[in-house]
Amino acid sequence: MNGNGFMPHGYCFLWRPSLLWLHISSDALTGLAYYCIPLVLVYFIRKRRDLPFPLVFWLFSAFIFFCGTTHLMSIWVLWHPDYYVEGLIKAATAAVSISTLLTLIVYVPMALELVSPAVLAEQNEKLAAMVEETETRGRVTLGAIMDNVSDGIITIDEHGGITSFNAACTRIFGYQPEEVIGKDMDLLVPGPDLAEDGDDPWHALTTGGASGREVLARRKDGTKFPLELALSSFTLDGARYLTGCLRDITPQKAAAAELELLMTRLTESNAELERFAYVASHDMQEPMRMMLSFSELLAQDYASVLGEEGREYLNIIGSSAVRMRNMVRDLLDYARLDGEGQRFAPVDLAREMGLVKDNLRQLIEETGAEITYDELPVVQGSAVQIMRLLQNLVVNGIKYQPPGQVPRLHLGVSGEGGTRIFCLSDNGIGIKAAFVEEIFEPFRRLHSWDSIPGSGLGLAVCRKIVESHGGRIWAESTPGQGTRFYFTLP
Ligand code: ADP
Repeated sequence: MNGNGFMPHGYCFLWRPSLLWLHISSDALTGLAYYCIPLVLVYFIRKRRDLPFPLVFWLFSAFIFFCGTTHLMSIWVLWHPDYYVEGLIKAATAAVSISTLLTLIVYVPMALELVSPAVLAEQNEKLAAMVEETETRGRVTLGAIMDNVSDGIITIDEHGGITSFNAACTRIFGYQPEEVIGKDMDLLVPGPDLAEDGDDPWHALTTGGASGREVLARRKDGTKFPLELALSSFTLDGARYLTGCLRDITPQKAAAAELELLMTRLTESNAELERFAYVASHDMQEPMRMMLSFSELLAQDYASVLGEEGREYLNIIGSSAVRMRNMVRDLLDYARLDGEGQRFAPVDLAREMGLVKDNLRQLIEETGAEITYDELPVVQGSAVQIMRLLQNLVVNGIKYQPPGQVPRLHLGVSGEGGTRIFCLSDNGIGIKAAFVEEIFEPFRRLHSWDSIPGSGLGLAVCRKIVESHGGRIWAESTPGQGTRFYFTLP
């Protein structure tokens, strides 16, 4: 008996040691297990942060802990009749048990919704199979692409070792992939040829800076050839690689060399032709002058002897000689253009237009032509040539008019600074669209000499002048309404 008047619980067992030990050992072991279970559960909760419904686990741990305590209390009360304390512990255990039960009731339907590990495993398996299939398909597709592209594709590790080599590379170099994989890139592109960047020939490769450069490569048979190499770097599993696009540019180089040769020949033959045109037209001037003077003398002194028909023939000879003289003069002008040194200086276009009007005073008066122009700028160029350009265009604008019509010409300008576009428009007969490009060719005329005289060189001269100033000339026309000649000057 103690102060509370209760007897220790051992009395119920009549203090029989065998019965006491049976209870003590059973309660002790159960209590011990009940204390260990929450520890394991807490360890589990802390490790599996993604655990669903962790509250249930926490409550379950607390519930088992209290149950363990009630068992230990059962041992205590064998000797100490603290039944109130025992009751309170049981009450706390009951409270935690009820809470656990209620929480379980709430969570069980939700837990049932969770996908079971078996289903998850099955889904995982399916996903893994899909991933593998996609990877295999990707690898096969990539392999097919790599082997079908016309450009060589190569992969190199950061030490210059070849790690992949496609079918086009085999065509280009003559090596099979197994002969080069693992070997140094130096085998295909001998190092010194990449040495443009300084002492380290592989510097450009390892820094990924060699994009689209031309290098000298070597085939399996030892022959060397020009190769266009574009490299870019990428990182895979922490290691850096270079992937390169390779193209054998032997045909392009050969074509470029051939083109250059042709261009040189063409330039030479053009120069020769121009020299010939210059010499021929220069030397023809004198005999032409003689023919003209003597046909005039003949007409003056022997007109009566020749008779009507003879005078007519002489007229034809005279006008043909004039025509020939003009052609020779224009040809000489045209041929001279290349020989003239290009001394560019500021040219005031308004002043040049004034000079053109002075030069053409007689023609302007005869036809009543009206020539207007915008406020014109000062450009850089050869004043003589620009005056000739303007004059040729103005003469044409006046010349190519329907009979009796007053020619109206206007020179406009557009564009500020840099390259300006000039436009000389007229109200003349116009040009059919099919011919607007041809008229700039030497000797290309759309009219007979008898209808409108001309040598067919005026616009060819214009084009040469504009192009020698770094500009462009072209025409637009509406037949029957007029023509616009555009040209650009810096
Ligand atoms: P030419 O006037 O001596 O015949 P051009 O080279 O100046 O030679 O002109 C070539 C041809 O372009 C001319 O024969 C003419 O048919 C056409 N042409 C040139 N300018 C004009 C124009 N303003 N209007 C209509 N046709 C033109």
